[in-house]
Amino acid sequence: MKDSGSRQSSSSTPLYRTGIGYDSHRFAPGGPLILGGVSIEFDAHLHGHSDGDAVAHAVTDAVLGACAAGDIGAMFPDTDPENSGRDSMDMLRRAVGHVNQKGTTVVNVDITVVAEYPHIGPYRADMCLALSRALSIPAERVSIKGKTNEGMGWIGHGEGIACIAVATVATEESGT
Ligand code: MG
Repeated sequence: MKDSGSRQSSSSTPLYRTGIGYDSHRFAPGGPLILGGVSIEFDAHLHGHSDGDAVAHAVTDAVLGACAAGDIGAMFPDTDPENSGRDSMDMLRRAVGHVNQKGTTVVNVDITVVAEYPHIGPYRADMCLALSRALSIPAERVSIKGKTNEGMGWIGHGEGIACIAVATVATEESGT
């Protein structure tokens, strides 16, 4: 059995990194609203080149940011017709696959959705499950919180939704 000294000098030590992602989309008439991979009954959807899923986009940028691996716009440019109307959870899965290939795994994500409406409470558990599958982590490591903007500004006036996400990832680094 190795002593603690030799374990400390091991060449493989987990390195934890954190990234932040932000996204916003405006409402456009007609539902359903896609958020965190969940279809929400609502009279508007989020306008965007893809399906407008601001939660998936913010989480994707948080994961890529934690790995200093660019951003969702570089990985899935809106000039590429293939990304038109695209399932944003598929983009998240591909981004996670990209960082997994480099030996990095997602530890947890924490998300805040800022919207006057709809209230996300009834959909929170389904969103956590859908996101956890895309992230290849247990649902217990996905946190989603809903906030209003207290009636202020474009969010308060119901023009759209903003989302902030933080992701922590772990990488087995060779000790240098
Ligand atoms: Mg977006």
